[in-house]
Amino acid sequence: MPISTSLEAAYNEQINLEMASSYAYLQMAAFLDEENLPGMSSWMRMQAEEERVHALKFFDFVLEREGHVELTSIASPGLSLSTALSAFEASLGHERKVTAAINDLYALATDERDFASYPLLNWFVEEQIEEESTVGLIVEQLKMIGDDRTALLMLDRELGARQPSAEGE
Ligand code: MG
Repeated sequence: MPISTSLEAAYNEQINLEMASSYAYLQMAAFLDEENLPGMSSWMRMQAEEERVHALKFFDFVLEREGHVELTSIASPGLSLSTALSAFEASLGHERKVTAAINDLYALATDERDFASYPLLNWFVEEQIEEESTVGLIVEQLKMIGDDRTALLMLDRELGARQPSAEGE
């Protein structure tokens, strides 16, 4: 069954939000590189790639459901970053916003009895639990680290070891 007009619009908005996330993560990656934290920068860069993959999951779904994809302008991340902690806090705030958007999509799909949306949205519900938990832990560890530069460099090394994952997870 083709996608409804309202779901089509909502998924197009989500494509834009995922692309804006990718853009925001890229800005964070640049900031962390400038701060001489290449491991954290690389972590954010992988995150940016993941968000692009997320956008494409919605992109493919709309097309598969005989909908129309309309790409719109991607907003400037507009982040004022001062420390690694501020970058990861911005990331956590952003992930919570994405989780709320996924929840809204779920509610809309349910209202419209569009059960074909469920496998896709269930994947994103699980993904968001993981994202918030991962970023939340890094934020807490950065708070513990405080002004301890040695510990900050250790965490930078650890995050730099992250490998790209399959399927944008
Ligand atoms: Mg995402």
